[in-house]
Amino acid sequence: MKGIGASPGYGLGPILIKEDFVEPIKSTVEDVEKALSLFDAAVLQAEKEIEVIKHHTIEKMGESEGEIFVAHLMMLKDPEMQNQIKDKIKKEQYTPEYATLEVRDAFIAIFESMNNAYMRERMADVKDVCNRLMRILMDVRTLDMSLIDEPVILIAHDLTPSDTAMITKDKVVGFITEIGGKTSHSAIMARTMEIPAIVGVGAFMDALKGDEFIGFDGETGEIFINPSESIIREYEYLKLEADKKRQALKEMINQPSVTKDGHEVEIGCNIGQPNDVDFVLANDGEGIGLFRSEFLYMDRNSSPTEEEQYEAYKSVLLAMGEKPVVIRTLDVGGDKQIPYLDFPKEENPFLGYRAIRYCLDHEELFKTQLRALIRASVHGNLKIMFPMISNIREIRSTKEWINEVKVELSEKNIPYKDFEIGIMIEIPAAALISDQLAKEVDFFSIGTNDLIQYTTAVDRMNQQIADLYSPYHPALIRLIKMVIDNGHEAGIWVGMCGEVAGNEKLIPLLLAMGLDEFSMSPSSVLKARKIIRSLNRREVISLVEPVLNAEDAHEVLEILTL
Ligand code: PEP
Ligand code: MG
Repeated sequence: MKGIGASPGYGLGPILIKEDFVEPIKSTVEDVEKALSLFDAAVLQAEKEIEVIKHHTIEKMGESEGEIFVAHLMMLKDPEMQNQIKDKIKKEQYTPEYATLEVRDAFIAIFESMNNAYMRERMADVKDVCNRLMRILMDVRTLDMSLIDEPVILIAHDLTPSDTAMITKDKVVGFITEIGGKTSHSAIMARTMEIPAIVGVGAFMDALKGDEFIGFDGETGEIFINPSESIIREYEYLKLEADKKRQALKEMINQPSVTKDGHEVEIGCNIGQPNDVDFVLANDGEGIGLFRSEFLYMDRNSSPTEEEQYEAYKSVLLAMGEKPVVIRTLDVGGDKQIPYLDFPKEENPFLGYRAIRYCLDHEELFKTQLRALIRASVHGNLKIMFPMISNIREIRSTKEWINEVKVELSEKNIPYKDFEIGIMIEIPAAALISDQLAKEVDFFSIGTNDLIQYTTAVDRMNQQIADLYSPYHPALIRLIKMVIDNGHEAGIWVGMCGEVAGNEKLIPLLLAMGLDEFSMSPSSVLKARKIIRSLNRREVISLVEPVLNAEDAHEVLEILTL
């Protein structure tokens, strides 16, 4: 079996299946007594699970983070809620799971009508607790890191970015998903965490019993279910070899990223959470080219406060010292849904209410983030970046808000330092007017993950058309060239934080076209540095013309492989 190799490395281990939770449909039971006792047993099981999670959370993240589970336990034991569910089982003869759903929705309706932040948090608690009860009653296997006690290969239809954010390397030694592409967020995070992964395998979970052992290659996408002894031995051997190669690349640490003929560039890293800085430092990243701040908003019931964000940004800036740290403001929407933010249901979330579009409509949310960022500027070399810019008005509005926040801080004598402001170029419209946009900002960072999907009209998550999602399409290369040239013409630096920046075949071309900064997953930095140090810029410049004039992606690839 084969999928799309999403994060290199060899996965070997027993599987753990994460099933999606589908709400129960309305149905009734014959035996009410049995349904009541099933419900009681589910409450006991839920209590056990929440206790374990509470314990792990307090241990890992501290007493205050564990409080949410204390609230869950109280909610679970609340006689009012339990009695309402039991009443529905007794009077309507509903299945316990459907009774739970009805009561959950009644509670949510009450909380929603109150419409204040505290009540919204309680609403999320009720949702969590009732969903847990329903999952137990329906025997749905979901992802709960705290409940894993031996390293597993995680199998899921899809992993949301927040599912992936919960994964820890000691418990999940690899994952495989039925959908997704190389640049879906779970794939990107797997690479940051250096967890081997395969995505876009297609439907295969139903055929699994749950007791299988899996071996897979995260590079080629090859999967073996219950592999033979010889395949296990081969993968163990390849794993060792890969470790040796990684070890050998360490000689690149502390070397400058400079070509043989003296052209120097910066190799930075993409991160999703403050802890990822450890991977950046271990791999000698020269900066952070993209901190996807939206991950700070995930796995919680409400937005992080200004103080929480300030602490997170500060810790990254301090850890990086003088090195540049590009923090991107909230990029929600698309495949990054945050349940407590009120997003409308959209037909095309990737073409919808996303990132800067959402932020400019939510002044309090956005200004809270801007305040936290600007306050944190004193702790290092901060650069603030805005995602999904498609026109000049968005930049101007954003800059006005930044100025308002600065005035507000100055009035309160809160210090901040000068910082650069930049934008992602990830929409073809922005690339095409990049000459104008360049006059408004201090830098560009090209987001090829989205730029490819919007240029070629290929959903980055859809495995059926994954072949069409090509970083070698001449249209993409032409747009990149245009953005770099326009940026340089206006005297600003141009970086790239999409996955293309770490693509070994494209690095020589990007270098030739004059890209100033390459930002990639930490695990790719040393390899990229080795490539750059082996090149002569004067030689690779000859690649540019033929590639720009190539007929299609195949021809581009051929030229780059010569
Ligand atoms: C991109 O689109 O290339 C990018 C870096 O942003 P994200 O992957 O978070 O959408
Ligand atoms: Mg993007």
